[in-house]
Amino acid sequence: MRRLLVAGNWKMNASVAMTQSLLSELRAAQIDQCDVAVFPPFPYLTQAAQLLSGSAVALGAQNCATEESGAFTGEVAAPMLADVGCAMALVGHSERRTFYGETDETVLAKTRQLLASKVTAVVCIGETLAERQAGQEEVVVAQQLKLLLEQLNAQQWQHIILAYEPVWAIGTGETATPEQAQAMHAFIRAQLQILGADVAQATRILYGGSVKAANAAELFSQPDIDGGLVGGASLDAAEFLGICRA
Ligand code: PGA
Repeated sequence: MRRLLVAGNWKMNASVAMTQSLLSELRAAQIDQCDVAVFPPFPYLTQAAQLLSGSAVALGAQNCATEESGAFTGEVAAPMLADVGCAMALVGHSERRTFYGETDETVLAKTRQLLASKVTAVVCIGETLAERQAGQEEVVVAQQLKLLLEQLNAQQWQHIILAYEPVWAIGTGETATPEQAQAMHAFIRAQLQILGADVAQATRILYGGSVKAANAAELFSQPDIDGGLVGGASLDAAEFLGICRA
């Protein structure tokens, strides 16, 4: 059975004080219904690791470099993330793809870097509104998965989590209906069959896009939805804990 994961993507929102108060509340809540992870910006990872030490809340980063080390000013490498205590990192979030030109090739390179450092890659995929309106959502998502399925083996896939985030639902307040989300998650799981039934059954596929305490239970009760990648609502402890308890 796949255990639900609720992952909080803070995006470019944090301060020392906010990290301290939000993580203290999450830690004290002792959620055991699901796995919980938070993804603060890079400067707060060490502070977060200290605050979460010994707790069940996992730490993740929002991005990593395509290279292991060296002359890449401004980049943060996967071994550094492992070194400061990250168990996970996001790859290919739609904001990275849209604003920073990340391609499926970049996503594969970053995923390889993370896996080499024993950091679980949370790979984000999803179509835009125009792509959905054109009926292309499955084509787009299959294309985003293609390289990862061709280039990484079943053993490597044990350390990959997928997050389906329709771009039109991110930060818009508009959520995919549970039926729309379930249909896409089932489609994604069917794509994973190429690596064997075990990979298809074991891989967790999170839903992301305006997840809130009020809609989480209905989304998470769908058979192929294994939790959520939560943006805006992860910045509010009560709301985020409400999602974890959903
Ligand atoms: P949102 O963001 O929950 O604010 O829509 C989700 C995400 O981008 O991961």
